[in-house]
Amino acid sequence: MDLDTITAISTPVGEGAISIVRLSGNDAIVIADRLFSGKNLTQVDSHTIHYGKIIDPATNIAADEVMVTVMRSPKTFTCEDVIEINCHGGMIAASRILEMVLLAGARLAEPGEFTKRAFLNGRIDLSQAEAVMDVIQSKTDKAMNVALHQLDGRLSKLISTLRQALIETIAHVEVNIDYPEYDDVEEMSHELMEEKTAYVLEEINKLIEVAKQGKILREGIQTAIIGRPNVGKSSLMNTLVQEERAIVTDVPGTTRDIIEEYVNVRGIPLKLVDTAGIRETTDIVEKIGVDRSRQSLQEADLILFMLNYNEALTEEDYIIFDMIRDLNYIVIVNKTDLQPAIDMEEVRSFVNEQQIITTSLKKDVGIDDLEIALSHLFLSSDQIDSETAYVSNVRHIHLLKQSKEALQEAREALSLSMPLDMVQIDVRRTWEFLGEIIGDTASDSLIDQLFSQFCLGK
Ligand code: GDP
Repeated sequence: MDLDTITAISTPVGEGAISIVRLSGNDAIVIADRLFSGKNLTQVDSHTIHYGKIIDPATNIAADEVMVTVMRSPKTFTCEDVIEINCHGGMIAASRILEMVLLAGARLAEPGEFTKRAFLNGRIDLSQAEAVMDVIQSKTDKAMNVALHQLDGRLSKLISTLRQALIETIAHVEVNIDYPEYDDVEEMSHELMEEKTAYVLEEINKLIEVAKQGKILREGIQTAIIGRPNVGKSSLMNTLVQEERAIVTDVPGTTRDIIEEYVNVRGIPLKLVDTAGIRETTDIVEKIGVDRSRQSLQEADLILFMLNYNEALTEEDYIIFDMIRDLNYIVIVNKTDLQPAIDMEEVRSFVNEQQIITTSLKKDVGIDDLEIALSHLFLSSDQIDSETAYVSNVRHIHLLKQSKEALQEAREALSLSMPLDMVQIDVRRTWEFLGEIIGDTASDSLIDQLFSQFCLGK
């Protein structure tokens, strides 16, 4: 593919020892060579690095001392000629060089455009390109591993195998339609369809099953901390975050700053959210009403409901117990360093023992128990297994569900002995949905939109 030469600063904004200005495209090497004083970059071997200076053509003054890496197509990230100019860190050196590279003929890359080129040039598929983004955005080691496996093509391979199975049955049916004189073909095709669609459906189901865990690892567990004013919600958040980000105060109801914070609890990323009104049960019940509160609570993957050991349960607490009954929650009875006033038997009548944790945040007691309970809740059944192809991306999960539906319709039609060319329509739809995951059947606008979420320079 013949595309223009793009460039961007590929290292993060801020101070650091080095920054990298990257170029990719047919003219990458020529453009770099125009600015470089040292070896003739157009003559050097591929995948070599060279010391020299970047000379500003306008003034003939050396702008920076650099190391330039020359990587020729096709064995590069984008499959195109790639240049990486390692210059001094900080924004000035890199921006100056970027400016010169632009004047020398390159175009500023759009966010994700380097990765998009790798995709357009066939080096990686769409799910792998998205994995590049996930690797960058990973918040825990486990999430990073999942992304790395996706990048290494595990999911792509599985999806391709499933699509192959489907396309074989489609081809088979088409032969059958073209050569109807073989009379046992109809029956054989029916059996084949039955067998292959069952296999594909089973595999899709497995992927959807582990998807929830993948999503959790990738995006974090949306966690809402709720409870009456002054029970210790901010204190809990602080303990978890281990830095004073939330305001802790003695005045009931004064926690008012918007807080969203990631914490890594034994490898599980919790995304602590403070959606409007959720943290104050008074707001929940009185201001936005029970129904709406119930709805917003349902958006959380986990609710930490806090009670005060030093106070009896109140009407509000009963309402909350009722609201969260069917949700994923842990009850935290805090302030155990104070005199008991709560009736623990009554608390146990609402929840089972394993879901109750007692803490004294003030004395730093019980946090371990909470962490253990959390890890049991989210990682007990299947430990993260490096061999599994995890689906963690919402777009992929949605497409898998659509594939599943289409395939179920195909199997329904099969069981009703509908004509095979009818069944085939649904099988083909399944094939297309699966193809969208790896980008085979994805539209240009989808591709543009996905890559635009990348950071600049990647
Ligand atoms: P929120 O209104 O639910 O966010 O509660 P805060 O986290 O602001 O805590 C209210 C008050 O209770 C603060 O003065 C905390 O220091 C105090 N507090 C929090 N946890 C404990 C605890 O375990 N024991 C005692 N005695 N006080 C606590």
